[in-house]
Amino acid sequence: MKEKVLMEDIVNLCKQYGFVYQGSEIYGGFANTWDFGPLGVELINNVKHAWWKRFVNEDFRTYGVDAGILMNPRVWEASGHVESFGDPKMDCKKCKQRFRADNLIEEYSNGEVAAEAMSNEELEKYIDDNHITCPNCGGFDWTKIRKFNPMFKTSRGTLENDADTVYLRPETCQGEYVNFLNVQRTSRAKIPFAIAQIGKSFRNEITPGNFLFRTIEFEQMELQKFCHDKDSMEFYEDYKKRAMDFILDLGLDKEKLRYHDHDKLAHYAKAACDIQYKFPIGWEELNGIHHRGTWDLSRHSEFSGKKMEYQDPETNEKYIPTVIEYSIGVGRLTLALLCEAYDEEKLENDTRIVMRFNPVIAPYKVAVLPLVKKYHKDKAEEVFKILSKEFTCTYDDTGSIGKRYRRQDVIGTPWCITIDDNTINDNTVTIRDRDSMQQITLPIDEVAKYISDKIKF
Ligand code: ATP
Repeated sequence: MKEKVLMEDIVNLCKQYGFVYQGSEIYGGFANTWDFGPLGVELINNVKHAWWKRFVNEDFRTYGVDAGILMNPRVWEASGHVESFGDPKMDCKKCKQRFRADNLIEEYSNGEVAAEAMSNEELEKYIDDNHITCPNCGGFDWTKIRKFNPMFKTSRGTLENDADTVYLRPETCQGEYVNFLNVQRTSRAKIPFAIAQIGKSFRNEITPGNFLFRTIEFEQMELQKFCHDKDSMEFYEDYKKRAMDFILDLGLDKEKLRYHDHDKLAHYAKAACDIQYKFPIGWEELNGIHHRGTWDLSRHSEFSGKKMEYQDPETNEKYIPTVIEYSIGVGRLTLALLCEAYDEEKLENDTRIVMRFNPVIAPYKVAVLPLVKKYHKDKAEEVFKILSKEFTCTYDDTGSIGKRYRRQDVIGTPWCITIDDNTINDNTVTIRDRDSMQQITLPIDEVAKYISDKIKF
């Protein structure tokens, strides 16, 4: 077991094996953008599928949507993003590097202080009192904090003027708020119910970086629970627990996870909490659970003129529902899962790198390997055809069997199936387990069940 996994270990492995490439690499890259390669796309699809299954398909009170990235610009006026949403930026006067003041504090305090809801004055005071220096040059000569709006702007139509400005959404949740009435009516949904979505968001982050941790384009998996205010804290606690169970079940280590309750809250909120993970860069937010009061729906009522109300069919009480939000970034969670899975195991004569993914998220569940290409290729292709109907499989007939096993270890494939003379003669295959390296023999027609029994989530 490797003592300390470094971010470089993860970045290098991702690049070398096709999990994640630098965005636009042949043009020298495009800072803080990343492209998922053949393994990465399988991995994130599995993560998203596991989330959707758990939070949408297994909960009949949750309804999915897939809203547009471009929305009526009035949405962003209602949400407060146009006017007051802004990251607190400050520059180091010595080296001219720009930073987000709240991120500086969070990094300095190793995630202990939630600086998100601090005023500019509070941020400046904390930085002064604690003599937080520039992470780039070590200087202590900061500009005053100014607000920076991280929304990406573009324009609609052929004329570029302010009237045509549209924004790339900086968060997905507005897609659920604006569809609250649609979903409630068309699904005949009764409160409490939730609307969930997985989709891309864009933020012109001041200090992006740390690989997939903070990027300018990222995907969010999140849901908004609409409830009566009297029940809201119960749902808040419920989602805190469900959010934690989900990441534990995916394989994150309990010791590297902690709740972090915010003591500074937005004016409309009753409670807010992050779950933090101990990344190689320290304790950082992995996901958020926020009590948002009636703020979002009230604002959309005000700006759209539509009553965002619910009438209880039993009591006839009319009210604006309270919202509990649970949100987690696909890239950020994937980074945590990559860090968690990475292992360098010392063997008798060498060391192997193994990605110990939970089989549910492993890019490939099975690798089909003909022992000797010349003799066993046709049979192996036949087996691949059968198994690939059940789960994602890969096929490899290049190099020695030992080297092929190692490659599957590095990419985290839980089972290797070797096709040899016995397969041709009596329809049995050898199954090698990634973690224990133990091998067993099974008839071909029992393989699919053997494996699918082990990948239940
Ligand atoms: P942070 O404080 O790290 O900027 P946030 O509090 O602004 O995050 P939210 O707006 O609550 O984050 O978004 C919910 C989740 O979306 C975060 O917990 C994180 O997993 C993910 N996320 C937010 N911003 C980014 C980003 N720039 N890159 C990758 N993931 C992100």
